[in-house]
Amino acid sequence: MSYTFALVGNPNCGKTTMFNEITGSTQYVGNWPGVTVEKKVGKAKKQKEDIKIVDLPGIYSLSPYSLEEVISRDYIIDEKPDVIINIVDASNIERNLYLTLQLKELGVPMVVALNMMDVVEAKGTTIDLEALQRDLNVAIVPTSASKGKGISNVINIALERAQVAFTGTESVETGIFDKHITKALLEIEDSIAEIAKRHNYNPKWLALKLMEEDSKVIEKLQISPDILATVKLYSKEIEQKYDNDVETVIADQRYTYISQVVARAIRHKNVDRELSISDKIDKIVTNRLLAIPLFLAIMYIIFYISFGSIGSYTIDWVDGLINGTIAEALSTLLVNAGAADWLHALVIDGVLAGMGGMLVFVPQIMLMFLFLSILEDSGYMARAAFIMDRLLRRLGLTGKSFIPMLMGFGCSVPAVMSTRALENEKDRRLTILLTPFMSCGARLPIYAVFAGAFFAANQTLVVFSMYVLGVLVAIVSGVILKKTILKGEAAPFVMELPPYRIPTLKGLGIHMWDRGKGFIKKAGTVIFAASVVIWFGQSFDFSLNMVEDMESSILGVIGTAIAPFFAPLGFGDAKSSVALLTGLVAKEVVVSTLSILHGLGDSAEGSAALFSALQAYFTPLTAYAYMAFTLLYVPCVAALGSMKKELNSWKWTLFAIVFQTGVAWIIAFVIYQGGKLLGLG
Ligand code: GDP
Ligand code: MG
Repeated sequence: MSYTFALVGNPNCGKTTMFNEITGSTQYVGNWPGVTVEKKVGKAKKQKEDIKIVDLPGIYSLSPYSLEEVISRDYIIDEKPDVIINIVDASNIERNLYLTLQLKELGVPMVVALNMMDVVEAKGTTIDLEALQRDLNVAIVPTSASKGKGISNVINIALERAQVAFTGTESVETGIFDKHITKALLEIEDSIAEIAKRHNYNPKWLALKLMEEDSKVIEKLQISPDILATVKLYSKEIEQKYDNDVETVIADQRYTYISQVVARAIRHKNVDRELSISDKIDKIVTNRLLAIPLFLAIMYIIFYISFGSIGSYTIDWVDGLINGTIAEALSTLLVNAGAADWLHALVIDGVLAGMGGMLVFVPQIMLMFLFLSILEDSGYMARAAFIMDRLLRRLGLTGKSFIPMLMGFGCSVPAVMSTRALENEKDRRLTILLTPFMSCGARLPIYAVFAGAFFAANQTLVVFSMYVLGVLVAIVSGVILKKTILKGEAAPFVMELPPYRIPTLKGLGIHMWDRGKGFIKKAGTVIFAASVVIWFGQSFDFSLNMVEDMESSILGVIGTAIAPFFAPLGFGDAKSSVALLTGLVAKEVVVSTLSILHGLGDSAEGSAALFSALQAYFTPLTAYAYMAFTLLYVPCVAALGSMKKELNSWKWTLFAIVFQTGVAWIIAFVIYQGGKLLGLG
């Protein structure tokens, strides 16, 4: 038999951790809300049965107000998974149970995984599972997903649950709603029994949704005006009785029920209102004056370790490996095999130079990702988002933009996708336009090359300044756009702070690998292909004759043609210009292109040779302008594709391209011309 289990729970309750534990997969786990936007599917490992596991986006309720909630609800109703595994953060049980109760109302087979039990136990809180099971009429399994505890129990119980025929009796429990609401619900149920049956909906749930005036359901089932009028009669009565709208009354009664359930089941050890450790840390970390300097200091230290100290030693080592050992071995191999000169050149001067130019920086990048993962998994990044929210809101932007932006430091593609969490169309569009300004990982090799070649003594500061520049440009242009073409109120954003946690080694490993593997994969695919094409473009002219000097080659001609556009920015030579064009494939390709065009394939000095080649073309000032330009101009084609998809408009995508390139040009211009005025180069 094959089964489908769906994981449903609040943001940050440990769904993805659970998903990874069950399926043995390595999905992105993040200690902040809103990380999982799309649903992910995997297969349970070590099971006789064929079990499909679906990780749905984190949601707080099943209302029709946010995209995630609608996605999850539709999935549960329409796809009918065999069992819902509702993950409940036991350390935050009262709020989490609101969703549990709504899932119960749906009347689908379900098992509750009471997660984060380790946290609850550490606090000395006890939970009476028997009482909880009884009150909620659902099987409850205690788990600690991040420690791998209780997972197999969850699967076994869900499997048992899936194997008994579902009778549809599990639905709204008596006792949640008071007699007035219950009576109204029963009567509405009668009048919609037919429709519910036709659509295979739980009639109790449908009655409840109609009372709540759930527009999505009304629309989907095309409920007739007659029925709606009947429902309205009941709601009117209730509204008069409670002097409040029905939706609020229903929500209130759910909350009341939950707090009674919780009061019966939970015993806290210390009732004294002592600040928890998390609260104490937060007092400092989110302090109005200290927060931002502290954030900058932490980031600076990370850059220092990754680029200034440990990280810089790794370059020599990888350099030696790629440009020394591997290059020699390959070269000897090709010569011995009697390879033609052009093939030798293609492999050594094209592919190896192109891929090596970027791979040299992988250890540094991985190191930085490791630190970012620590910040994220510990819960600090959520504070960063909180701090930024405060700042952004003062500027009239929504703090919700900050999470996609934070993700943008990794890669713009998922970051742009994650803007789906923003309900307000204008805020969403704005965030999509700004996210690519965040310095993604692919820009790092560019910074590493230029900082290494021109700012050897201040590498950390220079790389760090690029990140800050990206954020500043995003904020300033955000404010400008918000005041002009994307006018509107910023949506309020309530972000709740997850407790601090010691990151697990496994979590860090997954995280770092998740980000890092993209690089290595890219090197083997996109960069490899681009290197071949670039080598070809610099070795042949338009009539496909092999050329001696790059000037008359295809890339040379293109480069010379576009160079004047960049001349006012200080770097109008053909090689540097054409690298910006090829960099659209993926930003690392800028480095690959420069390595190939400057003929580094057969140079045993590796990146040192690239450094000295670049020194002939750039001054520190123009190098800095070039870095800023690569940071800000149009992102790579993958990111553009993602932007087009999310903006869902060619007009806006085109605007984004012109806007970003325009901003890049202006900033680089200001850096170069301003620097010259100040006598810097
Ligand atoms: P999701 O948003 O529901 O997918 O949650 P994640 O799986 O991304 O987990 C959120 C955070 O909680 C991560 O930092 C996890 O490492 C952590 N976490 C998950 N399960 C547990 C648990 O059982 N105990 C503890 N202490 N932490 C957990
Ligand atoms: Mg998740």
